Amino acid sequence: MLSKTQGKQPYFHNRQLCLPDARHSVRPLALSVGLQQRETPQSFVSRLSVRNGCATVQDFCRHMGIKWTDVVTGKGATLQHVGFLVGTSADDLERFAVKTQGYQRYTVNGQALTSWTTRRQDLRLCPACYVEDIQQDCADAAYGRVEWQLSGFRICPRHSLQILTLPASEYPRSPYDFAGRVSDHHQRILAAAEEAKPQTQQAVVEPYLITRLTGGSSASWVDRLDLDIACKFIMTLGVVLEFGAHTRPTTLTEEQMSQACGVGLQAAGSRIDDLCSTFELIAKRSTTSAKNFHKDFGALSCWLSRVDHSDARYEMLLDCLSKFAFDHYPFASGHNLFGRDCAQRKVHNLVSASAEFGVTISRLRKFLIAKKLPHNTFDIGVAFSAEQYRNELGSGLITRI
Ligand SMILES: [Zn+2]
Repeated sequence: MLSKTQGKQPYFHNRQLCLPDARHSVRPLALSVGLQQRETPQSFVSRLSVRNGCATVQDFCRHMGIKWTDVVTGKGATLQHVGFLVGTSADDLERFAVKTQGYQRYTVNGQALTSWTTRRQDLRLCPACYVEDIQQDCADAAYGRVEWQLSGFRICPRHSLQILTLPASEYPRSPYDFAGRVSDHHQRILAAAEEAKPQTQQAVVEPYLITRLTGGSSASWVDRLDLDIACKFIMTLGVVLEFGAHTRPTTLTEEQMSQACGVGLQAAGSRIDDLCSTFELIAKRSTTSAKNFHKDFGALSCWLSRVDHSDARYEMLLDCLSKFAFDHYPFASGHNLFGRDCAQRKVHNLVSASAEFGVTISRLRKFLIAKKLPHNTFDIGVAFSAEQYRNELGSGLITRI
């Protein structure tokens, strides 16, 4: 421990050279660790702490004159300070920092995240990756990958194992102290690696998330969405397709969510135009007795109804889905959906056609049957093109049927 007489001079602790205030006199630490691929700064600093024999990462940071909370929130000046201490590029350290941008908003390597998409205080890891790490070197070689921080990252693509969440940390252990926490639960992680059975389903979304976090691009138009929106879209689309529009995502297990996200990413397609056929599939599968867009699109409609419709980040999705709804569902002119107005009615149902043309529903139904007009667009429910049949319906011929 640093004594008062030591001031700002370098000192030895556990036979290693330390500098108490590196802002004034920065020299590298004698004992260091190497920054690993996609490692978060809190994982890196916590491993430095273990390597230097500190009981907690907070103690280590205090000795080094840095704020642990600034490491966790990815403050550039602090990470630069850490970079000086270990002779590592500050840019490399900062790259996979989960940076706080505002209330429940974060970025990683320029990708937007929210408290919904990132589980900040949970320590999640693949037990088999952990075992591989410590077999290669020593206990502090196990490091935290940035992708483990994402709630949508559920299966390790390398080992096909479900990501393990450790129990909550207990004071004074910081929830962000990766090396300290895995050390606390070493036996539990080893047991999980031993007992875990590989998942039968392939990791589909997980490689995509790594690609996004590392600044790469995929073949999908979903890359154009901010990552937090892409994750939510993929999940809700998959839930509706795989488990039905009536299903609430919160009722699904982690395995089911993983399955839904895989389906959602594949169904999104490579071009945004591919979405139209996916939306048609959802509408065809509808089991509602009347054509009702919101019921047919369940979780997807529910989510997009609640977002800020003037937010440009959602523009592409809202435009695409509202256009589909106006083209395929009985929305009247001027009806507002997701902040978009329906310019002209394109689809009628019996009620709306009856009101517009002054014909009873029973007569209207007979007219449709007699004319062999489609009684439905998607097998269930009655909806037909307003444009195609407007002249016939408005001609007065229908009253003679
Ligand atoms: Zn793994």
